[in-house]
Amino acid sequence: MNIKKLPFTKNKIEEIIAQHPTPFHIYDEKAIRENARRLNSTFAWAPGFQEFFAVKATPNPCILKLLKEEGFGTDCSSLPELLLAEKIGLPGRKIMFTSNDTPAQEYQKARELDAVINLDDISHLTFLESHCGLPELLCFRYNPGPLRGGNAIIGKPEEAKYGFTREQLFEGYKWAKDRGVSRFGLHTMIASNELDPNYFVDTAKMLFALVVDISRSLDINFEFINIGGGIGIPYRPEQEPVDIEYISRGIKQAYREKIEGSSLHPLRLYMETGRMITGPYGYLVSRVLHIKDTYKLYVGLDSSMADMMRPALYGAYHHITVLGKENEPLDYTYDVTGSLCENNDKFAIDRSLPKIEIGDIVVIHDSGAHGHSMGFNYNGKLRSAELLLKADGSVEKIRRAETVEDYFSTLDFSRI
Ligand SMILES: *Cc1c(COP(=O)(O)O)cnc(C)c1O
Repeated sequence: MNIKKLPFTKNKIEEIIAQHPTPFHIYDEKAIRENARRLNSTFAWAPGFQEFFAVKATPNPCILKLLKEEGFGTDCSSLPELLLAEKIGLPGRKIMFTSNDTPAQEYQKARELDAVINLDDISHLTFLESHCGLPELLCFRYNPGPLRGGNAIIGKPEEAKYGFTREQLFEGYKWAKDRGVSRFGLHTMIASNELDPNYFVDTAKMLFALVVDISRSLDINFEFINIGGGIGIPYRPEQEPVDIEYISRGIKQAYREKIEGSSLHPLRLYMETGRMITGPYGYLVSRVLHIKDTYKLYVGLDSSMADMMRPALYGAYHHITVLGKENEPLDYTYDVTGSLCENNDKFAIDRSLPKIEIGDIVVIHDSGAHGHSMGFNYNGKLRSAELLLKADGSVEKIRRAETVEDYFSTLDFSRI
Protein backbone atom coordinates (compact mmCIF):
# COMPACT_ATOMS: atom_id res chain seq x y z
CA MET A 1 0.00 0.00 0.00
CA ASN A 2 1.42 3.35 -0.92
CA ILE A 3 -0.33 6.18 0.83
CA LYS A 4 -1.08 9.07 -1.52
CA LYS A 5 0.15 12.08 0.42
CA LEU A 6 0.31 15.73 -0.56
CA PRO A 7 3.18 18.11 0.13
CA PHE A 8 0.74 20.94 0.92
CA THR A 9 -2.29 21.54 3.11
CA LYS A 10 -5.62 22.92 1.93
CA ASN A 11 -4.73 26.31 3.46
CA LYS A 12 -1.39 26.39 1.72
CA ILE A 13 -2.93 25.55 -1.65
CA GLU A 14 -5.63 28.23 -1.15
CA GLU A 15 -2.80 30.73 -0.61
CA ILE A 16 -1.06 29.50 -3.76
CA ILE A 17 -4.28 29.69 -5.79
CA ALA A 18 -4.77 33.30 -4.65
CA GLN A 19 -1.53 34.09 -6.51
CA HIS A 20 -1.70 31.53 -9.31
CA PRO A 21 -5.18 30.64 -10.62
CA THR A 22 -6.12 27.01 -11.31
CA PRO A 23 -5.46 24.82 -13.16
CA PHE A 24 -1.73 24.30 -12.69
CA HIS A 25 0.80 21.57 -12.17
CA ILE A 26 2.90 21.97 -9.05
CA TYR A 27 6.15 20.06 -8.46
CA ASP A 28 7.74 19.26 -5.11
CA GLU A 29 11.42 20.28 -5.31
CA LYS A 30 12.49 18.69 -2.05
CA ALA A 31 11.02 15.29 -2.94
CA ILE A 32 12.51 15.39 -6.46
CA ARG A 33 15.98 16.19 -5.12
CA GLU A 34 15.78 13.49 -2.44
CA ASN A 35 14.67 10.98 -5.06
CA ALA A 36 17.56 11.94 -7.37
CA ARG A 37 20.07 11.57 -4.54
CA ARG A 38 18.65 8.19 -3.64
CA LEU A 39 19.10 6.95 -7.22
CA ASN A 40 22.70 8.18 -7.36
CA SER A 41 23.62 6.69 -3.99
CA THR A 42 21.94 3.36 -4.80
CA PHE A 43 24.06 3.01 -7.93
CA ALA A 44 27.22 4.54 -6.49
CA TRP A 45 29.00 1.15 -6.85
CA ALA A 46 28.57 1.21 -10.65
CA PRO A 47 31.51 2.52 -12.66
CA GLY A 48 30.66 5.97 -14.05
CA PHE A 49 26.98 5.67 -13.17
CA GLN A 50 25.01 8.34 -15.00
CA GLU A 51 21.31 9.05 -15.16
CA PHE A 52 20.19 10.99 -18.24
CA PHE A 53 16.77 12.38 -17.30
CA ALA A 54 14.32 11.87 -20.18
CA VAL A 55 13.47 15.48 -21.05
CA LYS A 56 10.12 14.55 -22.59
CA ALA A 57 8.82 13.61 -19.14
CA THR A 58 9.06 17.17 -17.77
CA PRO A 59 10.64 19.55 -20.30
CA ASN A 60 10.94 22.52 -17.99
CA PRO A 61 14.41 24.10 -17.72
CA CYS A 62 13.98 24.79 -13.96
CA ILE A 63 13.35 21.10 -13.33
CA LEU A 64 16.22 20.11 -15.64
CA LYS A 65 18.52 22.55 -13.87
CA LEU A 66 17.77 21.22 -10.42
CA LEU A 67 18.38 17.69 -11.72
CA LYS A 68 21.64 18.90 -13.25
CA GLU A 69 22.61 20.15 -9.79
CA GLU A 70 22.03 16.58 -8.56
CA GLY A 71 24.43 15.29 -11.21
CA PHE A 72 21.92 14.18 -13.83
CA GLY A 73 22.33 14.62 -17.56
CA THR A 74 19.48 14.68 -20.06
CA ASP A 75 18.14 12.24 -22.61
CA CYS A 76 16.88 14.21 -25.61
CA SER A 77 15.00 13.12 -28.71
CA SER A 78 14.29 16.31 -30.63
CA LEU A 79 15.87 19.64 -31.51
CA PRO A 80 13.96 21.62 -28.85
CA GLU A 81 14.97 19.06 -26.22
CA LEU A 82 18.62 19.42 -27.29
CA LEU A 83 18.23 23.20 -27.05
CA LEU A 84 16.89 22.85 -23.50
CA ALA A 85 19.95 20.78 -22.55
CA GLU A 86 22.16 23.45 -24.12
CA LYS A 87 20.34 26.27 -22.31
CA ILE A 88 20.91 24.72 -18.89
CA GLY A 89 24.60 24.44 -19.74
CA LEU A 90 25.11 20.69 -19.86
CA PRO A 91 28.34 19.45 -21.44
CA GLY A 92 27.97 17.05 -24.40
CA ARG A 93 28.96 13.97 -22.42
CA LYS A 94 25.90 14.55 -20.22
CA ILE A 95 23.50 14.72 -23.16
CA MET A 96 22.24 11.49 -24.66
CA PHE A 97 20.51 11.89 -28.01
CA THR A 98 18.15 8.93 -28.29
CA SER A 99 15.92 9.80 -31.23
CA ASN A 100 14.14 7.90 -33.97
CA ASP A 101 13.08 8.83 -37.49
CA THR A 102 15.51 11.70 -37.00
CA PRO A 103 15.84 14.78 -39.25
CA ALA A 104 19.40 15.67 -40.35
CA GLN A 105 19.21 19.04 -38.61
CA GLU A 106 18.79 17.31 -35.24
CA TYR A 107 21.86 15.13 -35.74
CA GLN A 108 23.75 18.27 -36.72
CA LYS A 109 22.77 19.99 -33.46
CA ALA A 110 23.66 16.88 -31.47
CA ARG A 111 27.09 16.84 -33.16
CA GLU A 112 27.56 20.54 -32.47
CA LEU A 113 26.85 19.95 -28.75
CA ASP A 114 29.09 16.87 -28.78
CA ALA A 115 26.17 14.90 -27.35
CA VAL A 116 26.27 11.11 -27.24
CA ILE A 117 24.42 10.01 -30.37
CA ASN A 118 22.35 6.86 -29.97
CA LEU A 119 21.26 5.58 -33.38
CA ASP A 120 17.87 3.94 -33.79
CA ASP A 121 18.57 2.20 -37.09
CA ILE A 122 21.45 0.83 -39.14
CA SER A 123 20.47 3.00 -42.12
CA HIS A 124 21.09 6.07 -39.96
CA LEU A 125 24.83 5.36 -40.08
CA THR A 126 25.16 6.51 -43.68
CA PHE A 127 22.55 9.22 -43.10
CA LEU A 128 24.60 10.60 -40.20
CA GLU A 129 27.87 10.26 -42.12
CA SER A 130 26.53 12.14 -45.14
CA HIS A 131 24.88 14.95 -43.13
CA CYS A 132 27.40 15.68 -40.41
CA GLY A 133 30.20 13.13 -40.43
CA LEU A 134 30.77 10.39 -37.89
CA PRO A 135 31.62 11.23 -34.29
CA GLU A 136 34.33 9.44 -32.31
CA LEU A 137 31.68 7.89 -30.03
CA LEU A 138 28.52 6.10 -31.16
CA CYS A 139 25.80 4.17 -29.39
CA PHE A 140 23.19 1.90 -30.98
CA ARG A 141 19.73 1.06 -29.71
CA TYR A 142 19.06 -2.67 -29.58
CA ASN A 143 15.65 -4.25 -30.17
CA PRO A 144 15.81 -7.84 -28.92
CA GLY A 145 12.70 -8.97 -30.81
CA PRO A 146 10.39 -11.60 -29.34
CA LEU A 147 10.74 -11.81 -25.54
CA ARG A 148 8.39 -13.31 -23.02
CA GLY A 149 5.43 -11.12 -22.12
CA GLY A 150 5.81 -7.61 -23.40
CA ASN A 151 4.99 -4.36 -21.70
CA ALA A 152 1.71 -2.48 -21.59
CA ILE A 153 2.90 0.82 -23.06
CA ILE A 154 5.77 -0.22 -25.37
CA GLY A 155 4.21 -3.59 -26.23
CA LYS A 156 6.11 -6.47 -27.79
CA PRO A 157 9.65 -5.55 -28.87
CA GLU A 158 9.20 -7.23 -32.26
CA GLU A 159 6.29 -4.91 -32.94
CA ALA A 160 8.06 -1.80 -31.64
CA LYS A 161 9.48 0.57 -34.23
CA TYR A 162 12.71 1.10 -32.30
CA GLY A 163 16.19 -0.24 -32.55
CA PHE A 164 18.56 -2.58 -34.42
CA THR A 165 18.23 -6.36 -34.65
CA ARG A 166 21.08 -8.39 -33.17
CA GLU A 167 22.56 -9.06 -36.63
CA GLN A 168 22.36 -5.36 -37.48
CA LEU A 169 24.29 -4.51 -34.31
CA PHE A 170 27.26 -6.65 -35.39
CA GLU A 171 27.10 -5.20 -38.88
CA GLY A 172 26.70 -1.64 -37.65
CA TYR A 173 29.55 -1.67 -35.12
CA LYS A 174 31.84 -3.23 -37.76
CA TRP A 175 30.85 -0.61 -40.31
CA ALA A 176 31.51 2.19 -37.81
CA LYS A 177 34.81 0.69 -36.63
CA ASP A 178 36.01 0.40 -40.23
CA ARG A 179 35.29 4.12 -40.66
CA GLY A 180 37.27 5.21 -37.63
CA VAL A 181 34.65 5.34 -34.86
CA SER A 182 36.64 4.27 -31.81
CA ARG A 183 34.32 4.55 -28.81
CA PHE A 184 31.10 2.60 -28.40
CA GLY A 185 28.00 2.24 -26.26
CA LEU A 186 24.98 -0.06 -26.37
CA HIS A 187 21.43 0.92 -25.45
CA THR A 188 18.03 -0.67 -25.20
CA MET A 189 14.62 0.28 -23.88
CA ILE A 190 11.92 -2.33 -24.01
CA ALA A 191 9.56 -1.34 -21.24
CA SER A 192 7.61 1.65 -20.07
CA ASN A 193 6.00 2.19 -16.67
CA GLU A 194 7.19 -1.27 -15.66
CA LEU A 195 6.82 -2.14 -11.97
CA ASP A 196 8.66 -5.48 -12.04
CA PRO A 197 12.29 -4.80 -11.01
CA ASN A 198 13.45 -8.04 -12.66
CA TYR A 199 12.81 -6.43 -16.05
CA PHE A 200 15.66 -3.99 -15.47
CA VAL A 201 18.06 -6.56 -14.06
CA ASP A 202 17.32 -8.79 -17.08
CA THR A 203 17.86 -5.85 -19.44
CA ALA A 204 21.29 -5.17 -17.95
CA LYS A 205 22.18 -8.89 -18.10
CA MET A 206 21.14 -9.02 -21.75
CA LEU A 207 23.28 -5.98 -22.58
CA PHE A 208 26.28 -7.29 -20.62
CA ALA A 209 26.13 -10.57 -22.56
CA LEU A 210 25.78 -8.70 -25.82
CA VAL A 211 28.75 -6.35 -25.28
CA VAL A 212 30.88 -9.37 -24.38
CA ASP A 213 29.87 -11.12 -27.64
CA ILE A 214 30.25 -8.05 -29.84
CA SER A 215 33.53 -6.87 -28.35
CA ARG A 216 35.05 -10.36 -28.80
CA SER A 217 33.75 -10.82 -32.29
CA LEU A 218 34.74 -7.39 -33.62
CA ASP A 219 37.64 -6.56 -31.31
CA ILE A 220 36.08 -3.30 -30.13
CA ASN A 221 35.80 -1.93 -26.63
CA PHE A 222 32.60 -0.66 -25.04
CA GLU A 223 32.50 2.39 -22.82
CA PHE A 224 28.96 2.01 -21.49
CA ILE A 225 25.66 0.22 -21.54
CA ASN A 226 22.47 2.27 -21.27
CA ILE A 227 19.49 0.36 -19.89
CA GLY A 228 17.03 3.07 -20.97
CA GLY A 229 14.09 4.34 -18.96
CA GLY A 230 10.74 2.82 -18.22
CA ILE A 231 10.89 2.31 -14.45
CA GLY A 232 7.26 2.50 -13.36
CA ILE A 233 5.62 4.35 -10.51
CA PRO A 234 2.74 3.23 -8.29
CA TYR A 235 -0.12 5.24 -9.76
CA ARG A 236 -2.60 3.14 -7.80
CA PRO A 237 -2.60 3.21 -4.00
CA GLU A 238 -2.43 -0.59 -3.86
CA GLN A 239 0.77 -0.67 -5.94
CA GLU A 240 4.27 -0.55 -4.50
CA PRO A 241 7.15 1.58 -5.75
CA VAL A 242 9.82 -0.27 -7.76
CA ASP A 243 12.57 -1.55 -5.47
CA ILE A 244 15.57 0.35 -6.83
CA GLU A 245 17.94 -1.31 -4.36
CA TYR A 246 16.86 -4.70 -5.73
CA ILE A 247 17.61 -3.56 -9.29
CA SER A 248 20.97 -2.23 -8.19
CA ARG A 249 21.93 -5.46 -6.37
CA GLY A 250 20.87 -7.59 -9.35
CA ILE A 251 22.83 -5.51 -11.84
CA LYS A 252 25.84 -5.43 -9.52
CA GLN A 253 25.90 -9.20 -9.29
CA ALA A 254 25.60 -9.57 -13.08
CA TYR A 255 28.38 -7.00 -13.50
CA ARG A 256 30.64 -9.03 -11.19
CA GLU A 257 29.93 -12.24 -13.05
CA LYS A 258 30.10 -11.02 -16.62
CA ILE A 259 32.20 -7.86 -16.78
CA GLU A 260 34.49 -7.37 -13.80
CA GLY A 261 37.06 -10.00 -14.78
CA SER A 262 37.00 -9.05 -18.46
CA SER A 263 38.76 -6.43 -20.53
CA LEU A 264 35.46 -4.50 -20.64
CA HIS A 265 35.86 -3.45 -16.99
CA PRO A 266 35.28 -0.63 -16.10
CA LEU A 267 32.09 -0.48 -18.17
CA ARG A 268 29.89 2.49 -17.34
CA LEU A 269 26.24 2.05 -16.42
CA TYR A 270 23.82 4.60 -17.85
CA MET A 271 20.07 4.95 -17.55
CA GLU A 272 17.54 7.41 -18.88
CA THR A 273 14.50 7.25 -16.68
CA GLY A 274 12.00 10.07 -16.64
CA ARG A 275 8.78 8.98 -14.96
CA MET A 276 10.40 7.54 -11.85
CA ILE A 277 12.31 10.74 -11.13
CA THR A 278 9.56 13.36 -11.21
CA GLY A 279 6.26 11.52 -11.78
CA PRO A 280 5.12 11.05 -8.17
CA TYR A 281 6.17 14.59 -7.22
CA GLY A 282 3.87 16.56 -9.51
CA TYR A 283 0.19 17.38 -8.90
CA LEU A 284 -2.45 18.82 -11.21
CA VAL A 285 -4.55 21.22 -9.15
CA SER A 286 -8.03 22.08 -10.44
CA ARG A 287 -11.27 23.51 -9.22
CA VAL A 288 -14.73 22.00 -9.64
CA LEU A 289 -16.78 24.13 -12.04
CA HIS A 290 -19.92 22.04 -12.40
CA ILE A 291 -21.68 18.99 -11.03
CA LYS A 292 -23.95 17.21 -13.47
CA ASP A 293 -26.50 14.51 -12.68
CA THR A 294 -27.84 12.60 -15.74
CA TYR A 295 -27.42 8.88 -16.37
CA LYS A 296 -24.25 9.20 -14.30
CA LEU A 297 -22.85 11.74 -11.86
CA TYR A 298 -20.22 14.02 -13.38
CA VAL A 299 -17.74 16.40 -11.79
CA GLY A 300 -16.54 19.01 -14.30
CA LEU A 301 -13.10 20.48 -13.61
CA ASP A 302 -11.45 23.64 -14.93
CA SER A 303 -8.70 21.44 -16.44
CA SER A 304 -9.01 18.89 -19.23
CA MET A 305 -7.11 16.11 -20.96
CA ALA A 306 -5.18 18.90 -22.68
CA ASP A 307 -3.48 19.36 -19.28
CA MET A 308 -2.88 15.67 -18.74
CA MET A 309 -3.91 13.10 -21.28
CA ARG A 310 -2.70 9.84 -19.71
CA PRO A 311 -6.14 8.73 -18.46
CA ALA A 312 -7.72 9.39 -21.86
CA LEU A 313 -4.77 8.03 -23.85
CA TYR A 314 -4.00 4.82 -21.98
CA GLY A 315 -6.91 4.48 -19.57
CA ALA A 316 -4.31 5.25 -16.92
CA TYR A 317 -5.32 5.51 -13.28
CA HIS A 318 -4.44 8.76 -11.51
CA HIS A 319 -5.34 9.08 -7.88
CA ILE A 320 -7.63 11.97 -6.95
CA THR A 321 -7.82 13.82 -3.64
CA VAL A 322 -10.58 16.33 -2.85
CA LEU A 323 -8.85 18.80 -0.57
CA GLY A 324 -10.24 19.07 2.94
CA LYS A 325 -12.33 15.92 2.41
CA GLU A 326 -9.52 13.39 2.85
CA ASN A 327 -11.23 11.73 5.80
CA GLU A 328 -14.79 11.74 4.50
CA PRO A 329 -16.42 8.50 3.36
CA LEU A 330 -16.07 7.65 -0.35
CA ASP A 331 -19.79 7.15 -0.79
CA TYR A 332 -20.30 8.83 -4.16
CA THR A 333 -19.35 7.52 -7.60
CA TYR A 334 -18.32 10.09 -10.18
CA ASP A 335 -16.86 10.48 -13.63
CA VAL A 336 -14.36 13.33 -13.27
CA THR A 337 -14.26 15.19 -16.55
CA GLY A 338 -12.62 18.02 -18.42
CA SER A 339 -14.26 20.34 -20.93
CA LEU A 340 -13.06 18.94 -24.25
CA CYS A 341 -15.67 17.95 -26.84
CA GLU A 342 -14.38 14.39 -26.65
CA ASN A 343 -16.13 11.86 -24.48
CA ASN A 344 -12.84 10.33 -23.39
CA ASP A 345 -11.90 13.60 -21.66
CA LYS A 346 -12.25 11.97 -18.25
CA PHE A 347 -9.64 11.91 -15.49
CA ALA A 348 -11.53 9.11 -13.79
CA ILE A 349 -14.52 6.90 -14.55
CA ASP A 350 -16.77 5.47 -11.83
CA ARG A 351 -14.41 6.71 -9.11
CA SER A 352 -15.46 6.46 -5.47
CA LEU A 353 -15.00 9.88 -3.94
CA PRO A 354 -16.43 11.95 -1.11
CA LYS A 355 -19.42 14.17 -1.89
CA ILE A 356 -18.11 16.92 -4.14
CA GLU A 357 -19.38 20.49 -4.34
CA ILE A 358 -18.84 23.27 -6.83
CA GLY A 359 -15.69 25.16 -5.90
CA ASP A 360 -13.91 22.17 -4.31
CA ILE A 361 -10.22 21.86 -5.05
CA VAL A 362 -9.37 18.58 -6.71
CA VAL A 363 -5.79 17.33 -6.87
CA ILE A 364 -4.82 14.75 -9.47
CA HIS A 365 -1.72 12.89 -8.33
CA ASP A 366 1.38 11.73 -10.18
CA SER A 367 1.33 14.41 -12.88
CA GLY A 368 5.06 15.14 -12.55
CA ALA A 369 6.10 13.20 -15.65
CA HIS A 370 4.30 12.85 -18.99
CA GLY A 371 1.70 15.26 -17.57
CA HIS A 372 2.00 18.88 -18.67
CA SER A 373 4.49 17.75 -21.32
CA MET A 374 1.83 15.76 -23.20
CA GLY A 375 -0.41 18.82 -23.35
CA PHE A 376 -1.95 20.05 -26.56
CA ASN A 377 -4.27 22.75 -27.89
CA TYR A 378 -7.13 20.79 -29.44
CA ASN A 379 -10.48 22.52 -29.00
CA GLY A 380 -8.67 25.78 -28.30
CA LYS A 381 -7.55 24.60 -24.87
CA LEU A 382 -4.74 26.67 -23.43
CA ARG A 383 -1.96 24.90 -21.60
CA SER A 384 -1.71 25.44 -17.87
CA ALA A 385 1.03 26.97 -15.74
CA GLU A 386 3.74 24.99 -13.93
CA LEU A 387 4.75 25.89 -10.38
CA LEU A 388 7.64 24.74 -8.24
CA LEU A 389 7.06 24.24 -4.53
CA LYS A 390 10.56 25.01 -3.31
CA ALA A 391 12.38 23.32 -0.49
CA ASP A 392 11.85 26.42 1.70
CA GLY A 393 8.07 26.34 1.20
CA SER A 394 7.93 29.25 -1.25
CA VAL A 395 6.38 28.86 -4.69
CA GLU A 396 7.95 29.85 -8.00
CA LYS A 397 6.10 30.07 -11.29
CA ILE A 398 8.33 28.12 -13.68
CA ARG A 399 6.03 28.36 -16.69
CA ARG A 400 3.14 30.76 -17.13
CA ALA A 401 -0.19 29.59 -18.46
CA GLU A 402 -0.78 30.06 -22.17
CA THR A 403 -2.85 33.01 -23.29
CA VAL A 404 -5.17 33.45 -26.24
CA GLU A 405 -2.37 35.51 -27.81
CA ASP A 406 -0.04 32.49 -27.58
CA TYR A 407 -2.69 30.35 -29.22
CA PHE A 408 -3.10 32.81 -32.08
CA SER A 409 0.60 33.64 -32.40
CA THR A 410 1.15 31.41 -35.44
CA LEU A 411 -1.70 33.02 -37.36
CA ASP A 412 -1.68 36.19 -39.41
CA PHE A 413 -5.06 37.92 -39.05
CA SER A 414 -4.02 40.74 -41.35
CA ARG A 415 -4.56 38.30 -44.23
CA ILE A 416 -8.19 37.67 -43.30
C1 LIG B 1 10.33 7.88 -23.00
C2 LIG B 1 11.74 7.45 -23.01
C3 LIG B 1 12.48 7.43 -21.83
C4 LIG B 1 11.88 7.73 -20.48
O1 LIG B 1 10.87 6.86 -20.14
P1 LIG B 1 10.25 6.91 -18.67
O2 LIG B 1 9.08 5.97 -18.77
O3 LIG B 1 9.82 8.31 -18.44
O4 LIG B 1 11.30 6.47 -17.73
C5 LIG B 1 13.81 7.10 -21.91
N1 LIG B 1 14.39 6.80 -23.08
C6 LIG B 1 13.72 6.81 -24.24
C7 LIG B 1 14.42 6.49 -25.49
C8 LIG B 1 12.37 7.13 -24.24
O5 LIG B 1 11.69 7.14 -25.40
